[in-house]
Amino acid sequence: MAYDHDAEDILKPLVFRLHESVPEAVREVLLERGWSEFDEQEQDEADWNLYWQNSPFRMTDHRSIKPWQRLNHYPETVRITRKDYLARHLKRMKGIYGPSLYEFSPMAFIMPNDYVKFIAEYTKERQSQGRKPSYWICKPVGLSRGRGILIFQDIKNFVYDCMVIVQKYISNPLLISGYKWDLRLYVCVTSFCPLTVYTYEEGLVRFATEKFDLGSLDNVYAHLTNTSINKFGASYKKNKEGIGRGCKWTFSKFRSYLRSHEVDDLLLWRRIHNIVMLTLLAITPSVPLTSNCFELFGFDILIDDTFKPWLLEVNYSPALRLDCSIDRTVKKRLLHDIIELLNYKQTDTLRENKGAGTKASYAGRTHIPLTTPGENATDDAPDFLASRQESECTATSAVQSLLEVTGGTFKKEAIGMEKMARTHPRKTRTSQLRERMNRPKTSSQSKAVSKSNQLSGARHPAHASVQVTHWLPTTELCNYKLTIPPYFLSTKDKRPFPRVGDFVLIFPFNDAALEASRNGIDVKSIIQEIHKLMNKQLPPGQQKVKKRKDYLTFR
Ligand code: ADP
Repeated sequence: MAYDHDAEDILKPLVFRLHESVPEAVREVLLERGWSEFDEQEQDEADWNLYWQNSPFRMTDHRSIKPWQRLNHYPETVRITRKDYLARHLKRMKGIYGPSLYEFSPMAFIMPNDYVKFIAEYTKERQSQGRKPSYWICKPVGLSRGRGILIFQDIKNFVYDCMVIVQKYISNPLLISGYKWDLRLYVCVTSFCPLTVYTYEEGLVRFATEKFDLGSLDNVYAHLTNTSINKFGASYKKNKEGIGRGCKWTFSKFRSYLRSHEVDDLLLWRRIHNIVMLTLLAITPSVPLTSNCFELFGFDILIDDTFKPWLLEVNYSPALRLDCSIDRTVKKRLLHDIIELLNYKQTDTLRENKGAGTKASYAGRTHIPLTTPGENATDDAPDFLASRQESECTATSAVQSLLEVTGGTFKKEAIGMEKMARTHPRKTRTSQLRERMNRPKTSSQSKAVSKSNQLSGARHPAHASVQVTHWLPTTELCNYKLTIPPYFLSTKDKRPFPRVGDFVLIFPFNDAALEASRNGIDVKSIIQEIHKLMNKQLPPGQQKVKKRKDYLTFR
């Protein structure tokens, strides 16, 4: 017990800093975990461990980051989170790597620039005999939550007064009991160099609240799946046949539904993961080299009636507001798992810094490099509208990634989409202790403690020694599970954790992919690896038969 006693003596809560627009759930979770909130009056700029805001940080924030601090955004990720930028990047990638890989995003035209091209495509379709004219969806690039969206078939109904993208409307969505739905998939990038990507196994299925009907294109409750729209629909609170009340399911419920209809959904998830990787690769080389960041994205995926997943958009700061019990189930756990993924942990130097906390005491603090550098309102649409604006962060960061990843053989069994043993050391002994000791019994108590600390002028020193590590040891060591804290492992063996809570590592997926993303990013080699992976995943000919059968069981 001497260890516990010592630890109690030195362990201080981790400190979070939130911008005022950040949803309350983030604060709730961090307080539940025993963290304390940054006090600008009392504490020094260096005294926080995690800074969370819904908008991008300035490049100066990135440059002045301390080794024990983390920011919840990378610079330049707006390149995939603004509709027009995403369309442009995916078009470019399709041009380089071919449509067989990059055919997951509906054909898109950016207006007004692409007006002539759009008219040419529209006219070509109209003139081709026996071909049913497409439906189109027009979306303002600067808006979110379904605002300003127009669906049309005849160009005479197409009007716009701002910058928009016109996208082919997926007019054959896979319906559940006649209702349209899409998937909000959470993706966390813990590092762009080397690229390290996790997808969250739990998520939201977002339903339209009136039955899908191509005869009523202006009925937003039938064609849009945004919660911000559907919660105002007349049927929102009604018990809809096959769907229930409200407009959301969890992925767990969705999986059970698929399995009850004898649909093997593994292939579907693999295809979705490929979409995530291929999308992120479009911007990975242009993300400035910055350390100590992570990014949570919300990928909106629509599945059509041939089981093909389509990427509709990528959300910056996906909505973390808790609007209903399903949000509470999914998003709170998601937030807990994000903190787990960041893996704050103490090192021995915390002991050396015992008593630190005043502005003066931070001056002489030892900066410890991280072993690795490392995430939007009601609708699961962005809380942050600036995500739709041109990012001001264009300069390449002077902050050099302190990352040094070395390693031997990638253990196949440590990765993969099959269910794995939970090898993540959920909490290191010290961080576990610290969170436990600092965890309030109730959130009201926590607020009271936090308040009383503020009133009494107590300071929460930031943890100069908090390090973040994401790389798992080799499988042999994984087998020790929780008995060996990861920071005892040599850097040589560092590997990303294959699983953290419900986060599953999807990139890197093999040695070659790891190697190609390590020292600068070799996109071409990675794409080749993804291509091979896709070929293995999809035995030719098998998919069509299955898809048709699955489709039929769904109707
Ligand atoms: P916003 O940022 O305004 O939410 P989205 O691109 O997410 O814009 O579109 C809103 C909704 O419109 C989606 O959730 C989906 O239901 C529907 N939608 C968008 N694009 C398409 C498309 N190409 N085909 C079919 N439905 C679409």
